[in-house]
Amino acid sequence: MAGKPQVVIAGAGFGGLWAAREFDKQPVEVLVLDRNNYHTFQPLLYQVAAAEVEPEAIAYPVRSTLSRSRNVHFLMDEMTGLNLEDKIIECRGREIFYDYLILALGSATNFLGVAGAAGHAFQLKTLEQGIALRNHILACFERSALEPDPERRRRALSFIIVGGGPTGVEFAGALHELIGGMLVHDYPLIDPREIRVVLLEACDSLLTGLPRKLQDYALQRLEKMGVEVYLGTAVSRVTPREVFCGEGVLIPTETVVWTAGVRGESPREGWGLPLSPGGRLPVEPTLQVTGYPGIYAIGDLAYLEEGRRPLAMMAPVATQQGTAAAQNILRKIHGAPENPFRYHNLGNMVTIGRNKAVASLLGRSFTGWTAWLIWLGVHLFNLIGFRNRLLVLINWSWDYFCFDRTVKLILPRDSREQPSPGRFVHCRKNSAENTAWPLNVLRIERKKRRGAA
Ligand SMILES: Cc1cc2nc3c(=O)[nH]c(=O)nc-3n(C[C@H](O)[C@H](O)[C@H](O)COP(=O)(O)OP(=O)(O)OC[C@H]3O[C@@H](n4cnc5c(N)ncnc54)[C@H](O)[C@@H]3O)c2cc1C
Repeated sequence: MAGKPQVVIAGAGFGGLWAAREFDKQPVEVLVLDRNNYHTFQPLLYQVAAAEVEPEAIAYPVRSTLSRSRNVHFLMDEMTGLNLEDKIIECRGREIFYDYLILALGSATNFLGVAGAAGHAFQLKTLEQGIALRNHILACFERSALEPDPERRRRALSFIIVGGGPTGVEFAGALHELIGGMLVHDYPLIDPREIRVVLLEACDSLLTGLPRKLQDYALQRLEKMGVEVYLGTAVSRVTPREVFCGEGVLIPTETVVWTAGVRGESPREGWGLPLSPGGRLPVEPTLQVTGYPGIYAIGDLAYLEEGRRPLAMMAPVATQQGTAAAQNILRKIHGAPENPFRYHNLGNMVTIGRNKAVASLLGRSFTGWTAWLIWLGVHLFNLIGFRNRLLVLINWSWDYFCFDRTVKLILPRDSREQPSPGRFVHCRKNSAENTAWPLNVLRIERKKRRGAA
């Protein structure tokens, strides 16, 4: 057992979990490491922020996913550094030796250098950020209900979403439905005409990358719903009380949601590894980090071009790369040549609201009810855990048939205690009880490792 190669997978997102599954019952000892003890289903994160589903419904404990495996273990800790020479990962609580390393740390928000955005805009990358945004939106309504100053009221009731990609479009639609269909009834003292949902996009179309027909459909539907969409409008500055865009145009607001850019969740200075301009790790077609045998990068963190274009930061890319990287490591261990990664693109889909979505699948375009049903089915099927699927289905059904959202709670109770957007502090534990990996196999400490050598 002690002689088996040790594989460390940093990150238990889509890429990391799919890689871990591939190693089950194989002649390797695997440690999956994540700063959270759960996997987040990010494609439904915006529904947490729009009070559509409970946070628990889109998160799944990593230990439960791996509990049946005897050779794949989990450790809750945060990776903070990498010692390439000694093949050691540095974490908050310990150091971990690896023979093979898969980096699957995902991505972070890219504020594209816009002044004030990092400090004042809300992000939608983690469960905590989704909950913080939901609390903030509901708190804006609570405050506005009895606010006598019309200027303050209008500022609190203006919701600005920056970025017309899939997340921005989906959140704009969901937020408008939350407000128009539900909150307006709950807050009869608020004049609906004072509420604004604004979507700002720097390019001249929404959903770039999708066929023109689908882009136009999304734009028309959002505008028909009442979302104000401004194309070709770049944001230049964000403050706690307003957003500046275009040629000095100012919109008073307390809520700016930033969905405009992502970059690799790369360490500062890349931990000695090369970095692409988007903060991602350039990889060979085998998914090995260029110039570093034994180290692989997958998912949002990896930079790989196919047909001269970088692969998108999407869940199917991450899952397929997770499987491929694990298979290549096993092939290497068995002395077989590694296989180049090929992405099998089944399509893209984006929901806009009730009965409204766009889907581009296997070269065909779908809109409206058909696309919406496809979107529902695909997302339900891909959620991890039967309980989560059931919870989401119940929430969606309640929402659809009763025109109501079940999760309109401000938790924690005092919204003034909200962490400021962009600076949410995670609760991290470093206690020894998190260590599932048998200590005799782990060879945690450098000293031990050197002593054994
Ligand atoms: C709001 C939103 C909506 C999206 N919608 C869609 C969609 O509809 N369809 C689609 O295909 N894709 C969608 N995506 C993109 C998709 O979620 C990502 O492409 C996918 O999650 C990437 O998988 P990954 O494994 O690379 O990273 P992730 O799934 O992000 O996993 C990274 C993991 O690494 C952990 N981690 C990070 N840093 C550290 C560290 N230093 N130490 C320890 N652990 C660490 C994190 O906690 C996380 O668990 C969406 C993304 C977002 C944010």
